[in-house]
Amino acid sequence: MKDNNLVGTCGLYCGACKFYLSHKKGIAEQKGHKRGCIGCQARKTKCGMIKKTCSDLRKGEIIYCYECKGTFPCQRLERMENSYVKNYNLSLIKNLKRMKKVGVANWLEEQAEFYKCPECGGEICLHDRECYDCGYKQDPNKK
Ligand code: SF4
Ligand code: SF4
Ligand SMILES: [Zn+2]
Repeated sequence: MKDNNLVGTCGLYCGACKFYLSHKKGIAEQKGHKRGCIGCQARKTKCGMIKKTCSDLRKGEIIYCYECKGTFPCQRLERMENSYVKNYNLSLIKNLKRMKKVGVANWLEEQAEFYKCPECGGEICLHDRECYDCGYKQDPNKK
């Protein structure tokens, strides 16, 4: 059973986010990722990615951006999308569409599998494309 807190409203998988993984010792600490986060749907998330800027999300009328009542993607989500595609080869919009299609629980399973280290079974950070347990490097072009 996967942790539903790890489903990012914006389409990011929190289980592989460097801030979520920063509570781990070792590589995360060496890299200076100090802002520990317990995931987007947790009550006290430290993420400023998108929730605070959208009134529908803030009021809890919807939970994920694929449920958007306005223009999807809005400008803010589009800016984030462009930056994630450019810097991390990761499409938030593709993730959100997939989430909508297969359901949140299945999406979580798929994401966990994608970022699972083939060497040690630990988590690969989506920002660094590196396993925080053993240092294994994932191909940055892998999608
Ligand atoms: S910082 Fe944002 S994206 Fe990262 S784990 Fe926290 S809520 Fe998720
Ligand atoms: S307007 Fe839509 S796409 Fe933009 S943050 Fe809100 S729910 Fe997400
Ligand atoms: Zn590993």
